[in-house]
Amino acid sequence: MKKYENMNTALIHGGISIDERTGAVNVPIYQTSTYKQDGLGKMRGYEYSRTGNPTREALEALIAELEGGEAGFAFASGMAAAAAVLSLFKSGDRVLISANVYGGTFRILDKIFSNFGITYKISDTENTDSFEKDITPDVKAVLIESPANPLMTATDIKAVSEIAHRRGLLVIVDNTFMTPYLQKPIPLGADIVIHSATKYLGGHSDLVAGLAVVNSKELAEKLAFIQNSTGGVLAPFDSFLLIRGIKTLGVRMDRHVFNAEKAAEFLSRHKGVAKVYYPGLEDDKGYAVNKKQAKNGGAMLSFELKENYDIGVFFESVELIMLAESLGGAESLVCHPSSMTHASIPEDIRKRVGITDGLIRLSVGIEDIEDILADLSQAIEKSEIKR
Ligand SMILES: *Cc1c(COP(=O)(O)O)cnc(C)c1O
Repeated sequence: MKKYENMNTALIHGGISIDERTGAVNVPIYQTSTYKQDGLGKMRGYEYSRTGNPTREALEALIAELEGGEAGFAFASGMAAAAAVLSLFKSGDRVLISANVYGGTFRILDKIFSNFGITYKISDTENTDSFEKDITPDVKAVLIESPANPLMTATDIKAVSEIAHRRGLLVIVDNTFMTPYLQKPIPLGADIVIHSATKYLGGHSDLVAGLAVVNSKELAEKLAFIQNSTGGVLAPFDSFLLIRGIKTLGVRMDRHVFNAEKAAEFLSRHKGVAKVYYPGLEDDKGYAVNKKQAKNGGAMLSFELKENYDIGVFFESVELIMLAESLGGAESLVCHPSSMTHASIPEDIRKRVGITDGLIRLSVGIEDIEDILADLSQAIEKSEIKR
């Protein structure tokens, strides 16, 4: 019997949260590759750590519970999780992907899975009619992100899932940006949720990890087989760190979002800013869809400076905020999507979907908002081109 109903409690007590043998309030780090067997075929539940490890298992039970799924799987990175999930498909199958998917997700389909005959098509999943038209007989799944960066476009997970299921497709949602604290794709209709746990779930920029959650026993068996066969599992110590990070997800996200809302308002009023992309702003294109399915707009936003501002100078002028890849850590980070996170997407596709060279992405951290705004303000001011 569960002793709780609510999310913040689940973050702390979910899955397997104590050590039964000693009463330790944290799951021990089982730093072992193998397990003594009591006789031929007499295992105590574990045989080899690629197949199963108690620390990883505690994390896997936790993420399954948080996402409301049947089973969870922990991988050495978000990309390893995506690769395992895409290994469910076979030669001749096609996967539809949202226009703004993570660059690495695009790359693994474009450059790796294509070698095995698994193809993809970029589909405008924001527009359900156009998405449905893309479902040809070879399409077996749709992979979406909502919001999808860097333009923070929103896809209606419920509407897309209904169409996809009617046509026999699996629905895969990359929930990295929202986390189960803000959005739960499985109750909305998704079959599989994937995460780069490197980001908000870990939350401290000290770990690379990936997670997948499936909604059925059948998918759980298939993914367990793939995880064990291909072997991209998360190490025991990193599993421990991730459990530790997840405990504070709620308090961190509340603060991240509080700061992001303030930063979005500040930037939208700034004379040097041409456009802000943040689904928490009422005039954002994704506002209505995001509001239906997520608690709020999250803590990622992008913006464009006006033409008389030099973004190179902006990136060199930020002092507190760091120019770096990644997101979701305690510290605020900025990046340049067209040359960094989304560089593996060919230029013509980038231009078509609106990832311009003037776009700046901001992962709003949990510092004092006054300091974040002061830094943005001075960096924008310095980047103005004086004629
Ligand atoms: C970072 C990221 C990934 C890849 O995860 P890694 O942990 O870096 O392998 C996938 N999807 C999204 C949305 C991401 O931000």
